[in-house]
Amino acid sequence: QVRVRFAPSPTGHLHLGGLRTALYNFLYARHLGGKFLLRIEDTDQTRRVPGASERLVEDLLWAGIEIDEGPGFGGQLGPYVQSHRKEIYSKAIEELLLNGTAYRCFCTERRLDLLRKEALRTRQVPRYDNKCRHLTETEIDSLLAKGTPHCIRFKLTDHEEPLEDLIYGKVHHNVSDTEGDPVVMKSDQFPTYHFANVVDDHLMGITHVLRGVEWQISTTKHLLLYKAFGWQAPKFGHLPLLVNADGTKLSKRQGDIGIQHFRERGYFPLSLVNYVVSAGGGFEHKANAKQQLLSMQNLYEQFHIERVNSHPSRLNPELLDDFNRLEMAERLSADESRLKLVKQVQELVKKAYPQHSNLDLAEDHIVDVLNWSSQRLTLLQDLTSSKLSFLWVKPSEFKLKDLKAEQLDNILTLLKAIPDFHKDELNIKLKNFAQQEHIKFPLMMKTLRAALSGLKEGPGVAEMMEILGKSVTLERLKEALP
Ligand code: GLU
Repeated sequence: QVRVRFAPSPTGHLHLGGLRTALYNFLYARHLGGKFLLRIEDTDQTRRVPGASERLVEDLLWAGIEIDEGPGFGGQLGPYVQSHRKEIYSKAIEELLLNGTAYRCFCTERRLDLLRKEALRTRQVPRYDNKCRHLTETEIDSLLAKGTPHCIRFKLTDHEEPLEDLIYGKVHHNVSDTEGDPVVMKSDQFPTYHFANVVDDHLMGITHVLRGVEWQISTTKHLLLYKAFGWQAPKFGHLPLLVNADGTKLSKRQGDIGIQHFRERGYFPLSLVNYVVSAGGGFEHKANAKQQLLSMQNLYEQFHIERVNSHPSRLNPELLDDFNRLEMAERLSADESRLKLVKQVQELVKKAYPQHSNLDLAEDHIVDVLNWSSQRLTLLQDLTSSKLSFLWVKPSEFKLKDLKAEQLDNILTLLKAIPDFHKDELNIKLKNFAQQEHIKFPLMMKTLRAALSGLKEGPGVAEMMEILGKSVTLERLKEALP
């Protein structure tokens, strides 16, 4: 059975890159009827951010990713939080010390610092010189007897065979030429990423590791660790860099790539999911065909790892807006999701206009508004933008100037006599009225638009009247009278 995992470090918010990694793992698992695990990699306690794991989980679930095993989600092979697995790592490290593939390193911070400085001075890449590899048993025993602090390092050896990357094909990185032996357990007994990651992937029965390409170089080290343990390594696939439309790097510091940010702005989860996978590919049909929003099930049914692009995945923000409009239309078409939308709009409008107590938040009205506006709406939030706020509240100030009060009064009488407001009929009647009264039609409409909405341009006036409905229209025009 296929078992994959998403293994974030709880150092901040989930961002687009993390979502992409989680998503491809999830799609892969679902496509093959496998399991998707969540593992929290928090061994670097200095970078831990309280509450980050909870928020990560919340964002994943919001996006529609289901967790089969993980902290709080059950599973037989936990705990799924690395800081709760220290004993497991200690046992594993003993195994490597015993078989001679790892060794104790007593080098002080000061010595390591000097090595670094010396390397920089001679313009070389700093690397540990593997000094403690060569300590004798007696030396080690006496240092241990003195209680000398030490870490444990892994002996890097050549790795001849290339990595068969599920996405990149054959790749070869020989780390022992360029790197010193890496620390696998720090002096505080916390394992480092490489070590804990390998031990856990093995013990949690992970069959496929799909992660960002920035980890590809580390994979050689991981393969060497599997070999040192005598374990079979999982298969690896590295996902290319996720980049901006212009090819520049997404930066975690740009707050606007956080999932929270998209949620707050009102993007729907499936739109965001389609957006992210449209950049990476991996599907039978092109996921970025504009007019198609694929459900999670569609996505995993059509997913093939070998179709994932190996060139940088460019995000196209326009596509995100297209997807969101599609999702809006889709949600409007089904009873249950429509009701949810209505509730969201009610909340949104109440929040946007706290000082107004008589907002028209009736379900029918909101559904009409949504149907009418869905073509021009990317986000629900747009409903309370300055262009559309007339839907909810009357313009703050209006002065009648291009029409006489008597003329406006007559328009009111005319409108009162029309039983149902439909834009075509309204248009004809208003036009006739202007002709009879010798009023310039555009000028009259301009005045009516301003009285109804405070806007100089925007939707047609008759259309505005139809969407506002008869009573609100009459009320606003009445108030426009001096
Ligand atoms: N903890 C690593 C991260 O934060 C996991 C990398 C991996 O998937 O092996 O991305």
